[in-house]
Amino acid sequence: MNVALIAHDKKKNDMVQFAVAYKYVLQKHTLFATGTTGTKIMEATGLKIQRFQSGPLGGDQEIGAMIAQNNMDMVIFFRDPLTAQPHEPDVSALMRLCDVYAIPLATNMGSAELFIHGLERGDLKWRSILKQQGE
Ligand code: PGA
Repeated sequence: MNVALIAHDKKKNDMVQFAVAYKYVLQKHTLFATGTTGTKIMEATGLKIQRFQSGPLGGDQEIGAMIAQNNMDMVIFFRDPLTAQPHEPDVSALMRLCDVYAIPLATNMGSAELFIHGLERGDLKWRSILKQQGE
């Protein structure tokens, strides 16, 4: 599965801890991330991650483009709801595209925990079937 990992600045430590804890699951998938989040996860875990631009420089939009092309299967996005983001329109657009294409989107640690166990169990196999049908 293609999995996107994004964390706003105050949530980056949470994301690193999450990636360390679930490295054994994440390493079986193809990982994508916004620039800084990806760098921090790679440094902490050694996981291979394709990094896009930093979020404020267009990284969220690049991940959105993958969603629009049906190339992203899950998004884990640790948002900071207490800090204004200069790229808030991009954040909203990314979440909107997840809803347009029914892509599972976890916006906090609580839902991400459920998602990662679902990923481990193979709950997202319907995505492969959908993709085959679209080909
Ligand atoms: P970053 O971008 O990983 O480059 O910090 C995330 C964001 O703020 O959307």
